[in-house]
Amino acid sequence: MLGQMMTRPLAIGDLIDHAADWHGRTGIVSVETTGGLSRTTWAEVRQNARRLGAALAALGIEDDARCATIAWNNRRHLEIYYGTSGAGFVLHTINPRLFPDQIAHVAADADDRVLFFDRTFLPLVAGLRGRLPSVRYFVLMGPAEDEAAGMLPGLLFYDDLIAAAAPLPAWPAINELRASSMCYTSGTTGMPKGVVYSHRSTVLHAFGANLGDTLGLRAADVVLPVVPMFHVNAWGVPYAAAMVGAALVLPGPGLDGASLVRLIDDHRVTCALGVPTIWKGLLDAAKVAGSTLDSLKRTIIGGSACPPSMIATFRDSFGVEVIHAWGMTEMSPLGTANHPLAKHRDLPAEAQARLRETQGRPPFGVTLRIVDHEGRPLPHDGTAQGELQVRGHWVMDGYLGRPGSGLADGWFATGDICTIDPDGYVSVKDRAKDLIKSGGEWISSVELENIALAHPDLADAAVVGVPHPKWDERPLLVAVKAPGRDPAPEALLAFFRGKVAPWQVPDAVVFADALPRNATGKVLKRTLRDTYRDALTT
Ligand code: AMP
Repeated sequence: MLGQMMTRPLAIGDLIDHAADWHGRTGIVSVETTGGLSRTTWAEVRQNARRLGAALAALGIEDDARCATIAWNNRRHLEIYYGTSGAGFVLHTINPRLFPDQIAHVAADADDRVLFFDRTFLPLVAGLRGRLPSVRYFVLMGPAEDEAAGMLPGLLFYDDLIAAAAPLPAWPAINELRASSMCYTSGTTGMPKGVVYSHRSTVLHAFGANLGDTLGLRAADVVLPVVPMFHVNAWGVPYAAAMVGAALVLPGPGLDGASLVRLIDDHRVTCALGVPTIWKGLLDAAKVAGSTLDSLKRTIIGGSACPPSMIATFRDSFGVEVIHAWGMTEMSPLGTANHPLAKHRDLPAEAQARLRETQGRPPFGVTLRIVDHEGRPLPHDGTAQGELQVRGHWVMDGYLGRPGSGLADGWFATGDICTIDPDGYVSVKDRAKDLIKSGGEWISSVELENIALAHPDLADAAVVGVPHPKWDERPLLVAVKAPGRDPAPEALLAFFRGKVAPWQVPDAVVFADALPRNATGKVLKRTLRDTYRDALTT
């Protein structure tokens, strides 16, 4: 017998409609690119998004045209998120930290028709203009100004564009399988690859992100997405927050620790999301400012492994719960999040703390498994280590223009080497290419980095495998000293003893002023391996 329920497409326009209809006066604070704060509401975001949708249609761009952004987390960017997808165009967020060559490549690959950008990026865009042949309209996200108009002939201004347009009375009907937005991978190996999300996958991801055992946003939350809107749609927060009507604080370009502490305290932020490097700056700044981060209840940390010492500092010094999460551009990005089970409630504090260190369990909507190098599934016993494969409602089934690429046997092969325990907790040991192979045994660089990052004399640390005459490869610690500290290499190596097997302790330490990072803040291990290739052989 057929079911008899209504079928309504899962469309992004419905998310902003819900927020505007039922949480219309809930506030959104936005740090402006030119400095200062502005305030808006979900109702006003919808109004401006509907104006933008009408304005884009009036420009004559075709259905599904890609509309790119190079922008910070701010209110205009949020309006563009909804105004483009809601009206049937495809949002393409470009990471401004890509090299100019890569930006030209992704704009051409996506066939971008419109490019919105913040004032900060005017020189970048003006310099690139000749290399962006597909772009017909350049739109500066702000009010009109002569200097910018002089730098980019034909430039449009966002504030004028929407002021002149009557809002669409409603979003057009959308097939939920149509493309809504796209992001490119960060391109540590070769050129970035395009991942195209659909309306359906985005709305289902927002449901998944709002489950209590993942991000669990609520209407009473004030959410600070520090993770950029150009990095996997700020982990889907603009959609998940609209779905529940949470308030937002959008930090603009000021991502230093002191600015973030001020934002959290001034706007009573309850939930913040970002990568570990950002939180390191925040914790240092909170201590300096004497802030207790009073309003903050939880932070969602992912993007790279969250060091256990950071989880402990948030918990013990600030009373903040860290939810360690794992995901990828290719999966919108949510894959797993770490929350305890009922049976963990009575465990000793130490055992509970250890459980919270892994990347956590998959929500409904994501299925995962680990496989050996021949693709055979491995047991979920917490010990067997293999490549993590995923499938689900918000996992891609091929990169743009290459259907099926990245898949193995119907699963997306993540390239992450993991264990899965009998309760489903995933522990990421390494990227497959970053594991260190010493005399036939594998060593997890992530595990060694977590130990090094707990050392009070270090500001940053990475461990890479470098050639060794006897063992093929041995771990080398690349350390960045904390300000005013001067640790001896032997003392740093001694710090590993008793924490890992003796043969896993790095062979040597080299000091660096900073670690090289890619456009999304991940350490460029390949660069480190090249730089220190001879460290143990000469
Ligand atoms: P991206 O697509 O840029 O978000 O990068 C995804 C990759 O980041 C994953 O394949 C992992 O290697 C890494 N990653 C993301 N979250 C975590 C985490 N919580 N712990 C360890 N690695 C992570």
